[in-house]
Amino acid sequence: MNGMTRRERQVTDMDEIIKILDKAKVLHLGLVDGDEPYVVPMNYGYEMNGDKLTIWLHGAPQGRKIDLMKQNPKVFFEMDCDITPFEGDVACRYGITYSSIMGKGTATIVEDAEEKKHGLVVLMQTQTDKDFTFDDKIVKVVSVIKIDVSEYTAKHRPMPKR
Ligand SMILES: Cc1cc2nc3c(=O)[nH]c(=O)nc-3n(C[C@H](O)[C@H](O)[C@H](O)COP(=O)(O)OP(=O)(O)OC[C@H]3O[C@@H](n4cnc5c(N)ncnc54)[C@H](O)[C@@H]3O)c2cc1C
Repeated sequence: MNGMTRRERQVTDMDEIIKILDKAKVLHLGLVDGDEPYVVPMNYGYEMNGDKLTIWLHGAPQGRKIDLMKQNPKVFFEMDCDITPFEGDVACRYGITYSSIMGKGTATIVEDAEEKKHGLVVLMQTQTDKDFTFDDKIVKVVSVIKIDVSEYTAKHRPMPKR
């Protein structure tokens, strides 16, 4: 991916990256539809092994996003948190604080029941901080998507000092 224009805002500390992954809760998933982009908001779960990020999604087994992933598994994603607007003395000093992560990867529609259960457990852990178990009936009716993230960056815009 390209370098960040405001390098001073780049977040590289893994603890800070994990905080964003824990807080954001909603991810905007970018897909490729022929020569058009398609973006869909979704809840997610994540795993970080070393600096290897894996994202888990779930949803209905039919629909546009699933169709597109089957045609082209390349995805892009964005998630954000810590959103607080602030005012300024002139229009261009108004702004908003944020913490965000963007990245790209490859989506796989998971078929194996045990791997699907794992993805759902991770998703609910990220969303609720609780451990859930899933029976085979539920696992059959949802689709679980695994995103192997190949690259990501994190950014933070703090509240300006007055
Ligand atoms: C905060 C949030 C969290 C969500 N979490 C999940 C999740 O974890 N899993 C999940 O499966 N879905 C989630 N959804 C719903 C998701 O955004 C999609 O609506 C849903 O997944 C269907 O997507 P699809 O591509 O299959 O669309 P389809 O059902 O095939 O829809 C076809 C068309 O409907 C329109 N459309 C679809 N979704 C939306 C939308 N959200 N808003 C406006 N227009 C839309 C688009 O024009 C699209 O081309 C969430 C939505 C929000 C806002």
